[in-house]
Amino acid sequence: MIKTNYKEALQDEVFRTIAEAAEALSLECYVIGGFVRDLLLERGIPKDIDIVAVGSGIDLAKKVASLTPGKPEVTVFKNFGTAMLKYKDKEVEFVGARKESYNRESRNPVVENGTLEDDQKRRDFTINALALSLNSNNFGLLVDPFQGVNDLKTKLIRTPLDPSITYSDDPLRMLRAIRFASQLNFIIEPRSLEAITENKDRIKIISNERIVDELNKIIMSEVPSVGFKLLHQTGLVGLILPELIALQGIEEVEGQRHKDNFWHTLEVVDNIAKATDNLWLRWAALLHDIGKAPTKKFDKKIGWTFHAHEFVGSKMVYKLFKRMHMPLNEKMKFVQKMVLMSSRPIVLSEDFVTDSAVRRLIFDAGDYVDDLMTLCEADITTKNPRKQKKYKNNFRLVRQKIEEVEARDHIRNFQPPVSGEEIMKTFGLPPSREIGMIKDAIKEAILEGEIPNEYEAAKAYMIQKAKAMGITK
Ligand code: ATP
Ligand code: MG
Repeated sequence: MIKTNYKEALQDEVFRTIAEAAEALSLECYVIGGFVRDLLLERGIPKDIDIVAVGSGIDLAKKVASLTPGKPEVTVFKNFGTAMLKYKDKEVEFVGARKESYNRESRNPVVENGTLEDDQKRRDFTINALALSLNSNNFGLLVDPFQGVNDLKTKLIRTPLDPSITYSDDPLRMLRAIRFASQLNFIIEPRSLEAITENKDRIKIISNERIVDELNKIIMSEVPSVGFKLLHQTGLVGLILPELIALQGIEEVEGQRHKDNFWHTLEVVDNIAKATDNLWLRWAALLHDIGKAPTKKFDKKIGWTFHAHEFVGSKMVYKLFKRMHMPLNEKMKFVQKMVLMSSRPIVLSEDFVTDSAVRRLIFDAGDYVDDLMTLCEADITTKNPRKQKKYKNNFRLVRQKIEEVEARDHIRNFQPPVSGEEIMKTFGLPPSREIGMIKDAIKEAILEGEIPNEYEAAKAYMIQKAKAMGITK
């Protein structure tokens, strides 16, 4: 799994050009960080390249641009001493080697120039501190002062320096550690895990946008529960997503228990991760039950209830997205819709499925009916193999029925076959409540299967309905 021939990996002309530029400026320079890590892990050739120069990263970037055909533009971030340019499909970031020291109030350190080793020490993890030389005297040499290669082999997340200081200096690293553990399926070194737990409250100095970036990466990993279990174990989940932790626990009243909806949710997220790479559908799986905490009640006759938890949950989605500075656009609305409708197919699968119930489901879910089915299938977490099989089979039948009904009735993206304008014109009426009532009645008749989803039938029904309301032409 771990490559040894690094020269080979640096054959791309982008590295040749950077090496040439460094030589012209008499600078030492190295590829560092994620690129080297992913290269050694054979995760494919990364598109992002981080270059560290012992000297000015900005000068190096400018020199590289001048040697590149097409002279790409250099974006300079003067405050950070970094510069960025695009080299074909690659994004290359340049930074001067630096030494950092932190104060407690912020994650922005005081920076001085330093050596390569100083720069490697300020990196978050040993596996992210690996550097490959681009210098002519030792091109392709791997510089690994903290045994990062060994940690790649043993799948270990470890900090180059004292973990308490590392995480306290920049608490974003806590989430990065958990995110890498989840993405790469690595173990976090016990000392690190303790340090994260001790420093968890410092997460408050991290912006919500950055937290969400890391959460998204956890959610997109192959088995997201790896990350969420670590967020739980360290106590971070309660600080970031209190709605989820509120689902934890099992209550028992009069011998009746409900399931632990926190652990159930993690199973649902793992299930859906096998079925889809749609980030927002995965978010919907994570949030599908959040309304259960505030709606939980015990009723002597029927036991535990979570009345209207889907509705309450969908309102909570908005608040959560707003608090976390996530997009309040159609992505959020999609998650809301999935949460709101998350129990609908279940009802269908339990009962005899009527065509009209399926038509209503398609009408309400629109283009997202497949996503909704995927969510509901992921929601099956029963450990009873007989039930597991039964539910899966029922959902298969619902899916089949959706296809049949859709092929026949075309309810998805329903457009009323008779428009409001036509109704107004036919009866010489202005826009009014009556027009809305007639339109609704036509829609209902189609969904109920009283008339087909066709123009002639709808027009005849319109006339009949208007007559019954005392409206004539
Ligand atoms: P990916 O790009 O896959 O998310 P990455 O490791 O490349 O992973 P980046 O955020 O692109 O992550 O950062 C590039 C490198 O910068 C890292 O490999 C690491 O060496 C360093 N780095 C990034 N963030 C931090 C941090 N908060 N503290 C210390 N070093 C960091
Ligand atoms: Mg990167």
